Amino acid sequence: MTAICWFRTDLRIEDQPALTAALEDGQTIALFIASPTQWHQHGDAPAKVDFWLRGLHALKSELESLNIPFKWLQVEQWEDVPEALLTFCQQHQIESVHCNREHGVNERRRDRACYRLLNDHGISMTGHHGGTLLVPGSVKTGSDGYYRVFTPFAKACREKLRTAPYRIAPLPRKQNGNGLPGSDALPETMPGWERPDPSLQKGWSAGSDAAHARLSLFAEQAMMRYVPDRDYPALPGTSTLSPYLASGMISAGQCLHAAMIVNQGETDTGNQGVTTWITELLWREFYQHLIFGFPALSMHQPMRPETDAVVWREAPNDFEEWCQGKTGVPIVDAAMRQLVTTGWMHNRLRMVVAMYLTKNLLINWRLGEAFFMRHLVDGELAANNGGWQWSASTGADSAPYFRVFNPVSQSQKFDPKGAFLRHWLPELATLSDREIHDPSPVSRQALNYPLQLVDLKTSRVRAIEAFASLR
Ligand SMILES: Cc1cc2nc3c(=O)[nH]c(=O)nc-3n(C[C@H](O)[C@H](O)[C@H](O)COP(=O)(O)OP(=O)(O)OC[C@H]3O[C@@H](n4cnc5c(N)ncnc54)[C@H](O)[C@@H]3O)c2cc1C
Repeated sequence: MTAICWFRTDLRIEDQPALTAALEDGQTIALFIASPTQWHQHGDAPAKVDFWLRGLHALKSELESLNIPFKWLQVEQWEDVPEALLTFCQQHQIESVHCNREHGVNERRRDRACYRLLNDHGISMTGHHGGTLLVPGSVKTGSDGYYRVFTPFAKACREKLRTAPYRIAPLPRKQNGNGLPGSDALPETMPGWERPDPSLQKGWSAGSDAAHARLSLFAEQAMMRYVPDRDYPALPGTSTLSPYLASGMISAGQCLHAAMIVNQGETDTGNQGVTTWITELLWREFYQHLIFGFPALSMHQPMRPETDAVVWREAPNDFEEWCQGKTGVPIVDAAMRQLVTTGWMHNRLRMVVAMYLTKNLLINWRLGEAFFMRHLVDGELAANNGGWQWSASTGADSAPYFRVFNPVSQSQKFDPKGAFLRHWLPELATLSDREIHDPSPVSRQALNYPLQLVDLKTSRVRAIEAFASLR
């Protein structure tokens, strides 16, 4: 029997349940289906597409070391996938297809259509659980609903993981590969996608080896210090594993295991840095489970329906200044420059810039969400949507609308010496540690740095009123 492992957001060979299952069925061919028009529609970043392509090259070598050929199909959109997959299966006498489930609405529609068509032609298709620590839909409240609040959700996850610990699927054994076709050549670039700057590429070596090297370094040097360091964007205090988790070059289970090794097998007690980092993995889990449980989230709907009535400002010029890092609030501008230059932004700053956009500028969170997707190398629907809805106070367990971050205070607190600001805003480098967070009008003029787009105090009140009036 010949089987396929269809790779999607799981670009690894270890802890890869779909690959394990395909190999149990028989001789296995690996498949990736590129769909550039669909990626454009989802607003994926060129940096992300490039990172994934480089990851696919690494994956191909790993698969070939197991005698598994890697095939590449290209269609425009996901609605073209079922036919293309069927034709491929028929050409190669495939009897079973294995993949790890994805939870967005479009992804589920695509998979259902594939399942039906393949089944009609006598080919089985099986979805496995490979993207999260726990199967979405398996963590429910006492009344069988989805958790909408993070803390009890995380508690329930921890309980489940204690009673049934996550098991890592082992590295598969080499198959003999006799009679299988050879691998396809993979493209170096995708037509229609600009290639990112080489320095951006260099910052994100792709593939599972690179992911594990990053995880090891973080486990050795920073995980135990996660609590004091994680909120300071000038410090290497977080793992920067998000692009690898989003593409599946590393699994959440592998991260959990690494954390448990540092913490002598514990997930809930022991070193606080480690347990807090595990809590971050559970935030990722929370948003994945929400996307599964509430399909409307994949369709631009707010988690709190009443917030759909917020009257957002139509302010394209203000939005453009935010995108370009020219708001006149140094921490916001520095963070936006970090995003556009590196494809990544520190979590504290994602919250700061998202709150600034949705509260101080009162601009629709969907615009910010889409801009992030167009630039993030770790862009991922569930986490991005969750983060934006948290910041905009439209989400499940979101910031209360009356608790608006003051970006200048955030800057003073989390970048007290202005190290991050000086790196990204060299034009302000000569200012004192005190002034750099909010330069005087004279300094702004002298340094050619813009005045603030809006007054932070009055714009805060405007946002609170816009939300309060919903009642
Ligand atoms: C407005 C906004 C948008 C965001 N968009 C994305 C996105 O598109 N993709 C993405 O992966 N994350 C997103 N996040 C979550 C978070 O900012 C990043 O996961 C984190 O900054 C990645 O850095 P790290 O790998 O060093 O994280 P670490 O602090 O080392 O955390 C480890 C892992 O836990 C997960 N994680 C950590 N914090 C969160 C969180 N708040 N929500 C969900 N997962 C989390 C990530 O997978 C991360 O790699 C967003 C947050 C906000 C506020």
